[in-house]
Amino acid sequence: MLNDQELLRYSRQILLQHIDIDGQLRLKESRVLIVGLGGLGAPVALYLAAAGVGELHLADFDTVDLTNLQRQIIHDTDSVGMSKVDSAIKRLTAINPQIALVAHRAALDEDSLAAVVAGVDLVLDCSDNFSTREAVNAACVSAGKPLVSGAAIRLEGQLSVFDPRRAESPCYHCLYGHGSEAELTCSEAGVVGPLVGLVGSLQALEALKLLAGFGEPLVGRLLLIDALGTRFRELRVKRDPGCSVCGPKHA
Ligand SMILES: [Zn+2]
Repeated sequence: MLNDQELLRYSRQILLQHIDIDGQLRLKESRVLIVGLGGLGAPVALYLAAAGVGELHLADFDTVDLTNLQRQIIHDTDSVGMSKVDSAIKRLTAINPQIALVAHRAALDEDSLAAVVAGVDLVLDCSDNFSTREAVNAACVSAGKPLVSGAAIRLEGQLSVFDPRRAESPCYHCLYGHGSEAELTCSEAGVVGPLVGLVGSLQALEALKLLAGFGEPLVGRLLLIDALGTRFRELRVKRDPGCSVCGPKHA
């Protein structure tokens, strides 16, 4: 049930017929893992906490650096040097003290990642490197949990949802597993703040849709964002039957 404070706090989204009381209750009962509390994880965590997602697992082993503050809007100047998880908990608690926050301050290895993923309903990949993305994807495929994946670098962003519960859905590895592109991170290549804000906001929106059960998720589609020209493009993406992560021999 929702108490009076919750009915008030979430009233503007409960007003939407797509969410209503039932959708809000589903959000309250949801557990979500956010991998990375940087430029993407910041808006993701802020919006999911504000929306009343009941339990947020926050994973990041890094500390807040002055160079993060241009885009990682969950952290502030006073948090420089603090663990990103603790900095985020401070801000999220101030926004919404009615949700549960679970801290994962150490790097997650294969076993600990599998255990956390098994205990949540959905995962958001807000990390900035290929090996983490591959590990998170493998854990989600193995546990059958939907993965909302976002990325942004320089002036380009990408977004997709991989849902192993749907037979036609590709996984992250189906799309990116064969790429040999040199790995670049925002700290090396640069990025503009509002672009990661945009991609992270879209990730939060996809998560709310999947958790509350409304709308059409971005499954089987890859959204490409060109910030220079302000253009959005969508590509159809298919499951790779020979994928080494979600293919038949691993199913
Ligand atoms: Zn795959």
